[in-house]
Amino acid sequence: MNARRAAEAAAWHDLDQALLAADERGQQIPCRGHWASFTADDTETCRRAARACATCPVLDTCAGVVPFVWHGAWAGRVISFGKVQKEVDS
Ligand code: SF4
Repeated sequence: MNARRAAEAAAWHDLDQALLAADERGQQIPCRGHWASFTADDTETCRRAARACATCPVLDTCAGVVPFVWHGAWAGRVISFGKVQKEVDS
């Protein structure tokens, strides 16, 4: 496994663990049940979804996967074709 793949695997693992811990604490994850908005092709819909990340208990850990995603709203950012499009004000 090359270094990038190892970093990606670690980032997803860390996010999985953070989500499980949040579940155990009974915390709400804003993207749950709203995945269509978080993966919308429409940029404005994605921006609105990304703003909801501001209250997410795993926001910092989720930021670790941002370099490895291709599209959607992740950790308060809008990503398109693997590039962060815009920082989203909360
Ligand atoms: S930071 Fe946003 S995209 Fe990441 S888990 Fe939380 S709500 Fe979902």
